[in-house]
Amino acid sequence: MGDASAPLHEVFFSVQGEGLWIGVPQVFVRVAGCDLACWYCDTVAAQRVSPEWPVDLPGREPSTESNPVAADHLAGLLRAWLALPDRPPVHSMALTGGEPLLYPGFVAALGKALVELRVPMYLETGGHHPKELARVLPWVDYVSLDYKLPSTLPEPVPARIFAESTRITAQRQFFVKMVVTDRITEGELLEACAAIAEGQPGAPVVLQPVTGVSRAGGPPAAEQLLEWLRLARRYPLQVRVIPQCHKLLGAR
Ligand code: SF4
Repeated sequence: MGDASAPLHEVFFSVQGEGLWIGVPQVFVRVAGCDLACWYCDTVAAQRVSPEWPVDLPGREPSTESNPVAADHLAGLLRAWLALPDRPPVHSMALTGGEPLLYPGFVAALGKALVELRVPMYLETGGHHPKELARVLPWVDYVSLDYKLPSTLPEPVPARIFAESTRITAQRQFFVKMVVTDRITEGELLEACAAIAEGQPGAPVVLQPVTGVSRAGGPPAAEQLLEWLRLARRYPLQVRVIPQCHKLLGAR
């Protein structure tokens, strides 16, 4: 696999269901492969690489492509779809996963192609690869940085790594997302807030209640969420609560 190639899991059209840009129409490019194993993962199938991946874009016959794929090939596919006269509007291309920053050469090459296509890149990443994040950032317009709380992972990522990723990503339009469950502790929440505020004072932070019950726990009660908002006031952050909306819509 070349530096500008990556394995994909799927390409489809939907609306953004999380965070500050909720509701905007996007083309989703989901890479395959992940180096974490979040207890709450709702895209477990994308943690592994399959030989093929589906493309499902409105106005175009569904098709299947092979892995790995070169960024140029994917850009050509997107270019042809964007040229369709009756396609829906597109705010940006969401590059998600899996973990896109396992393939920084692919992300950078795709980002360059998107500049030519005049489609902004919206990167969703776990925030545990600050070096790779810095490498691809010139080609990224929006970042959704997932802060993984220790109780949601089998092997926690040190808070200082998230602090570094927050510092880097603050050069773009961004927010930090934390999936919260009824099992997280006040201590881990405050450690996360301290790390994010250290990385970028005033950073927007979204507490996202987990959808459904997972090994990480179930959704927190409303009173718990309000208490966490009160606790987070100790740090210079813009904290709010936003649930996953695409699941309410029954959308992907
Ligand atoms: S980083 Fe994303 S894809 Fe990987 S395990 Fe966590 S939720 Fe799943």
